[in-house]
Amino acid sequence: MSYIKPLSKLIDELTALPGIGSKSAARLAFHILKIPKEKAYAIANAITDAKEKVFCCSICKNLTDTEPCSICSSEKRDRSVICVVESPKDVVAIEKTREFNGLYHVLHGAISPIDKIGPDDIFIKELVQRITPEIKEVIAATNLTIEGEATAMYISRLLSPLGVNVTRIANGIPVGGDLEYADEITLSKALDNRRKIL
Ligand code: ZN
Repeated sequence: MSYIKPLSKLIDELTALPGIGSKSAARLAFHILKIPKEKAYAIANAITDAKEKVFCCSICKNLTDTEPCSICSSEKRDRSVICVVESPKDVVAIEKTREFNGLYHVLHGAISPIDKIGPDDIFIKELVQRITPEIKEVIAATNLTIEGEATAMYISRLLSPLGVNVTRIANGIPVGGDLEYADEITLSKALDNRRKIL
């Protein structure tokens, strides 16, 4: 026996979401049918609203509902530093630290030959276009993965000849971590990146 059409359609759409299997989709669909109409409509409206109002900032490519985004248009940010990240989620993570007051550039991915993602498939060209004499430093804050490292290296090779100081976020032992549990690569990188104690 299969589900009635409107229900199976809802389950199908939910299954298409990442991380949702057919069992979870069925559970969500039955939940949606059970909750009051207003709550279900609120979910549908939130989806429509997000799709209609959220877009990429023309300058930094971060997700925004204003053009340019609040960071690009802020007078309080340091316009001489651009922090390059892979995803809008990384901007949120860095903003939470309150340690960075410069501008951002969101690549929306990383170079990955295996996945056939080249420099032209992410917003690297747009980053180069932002480099003016005003920009003193570009921080490559891409992930510490093979793809993230390759992307950081590519950006460095591209921007260094333009006179920009390209830096890379440090890597090493996580705060609260024990040396004995760190893998060899992390430990050797932590040793490589050692610094003077004040
Ligand atoms: Zn922006």
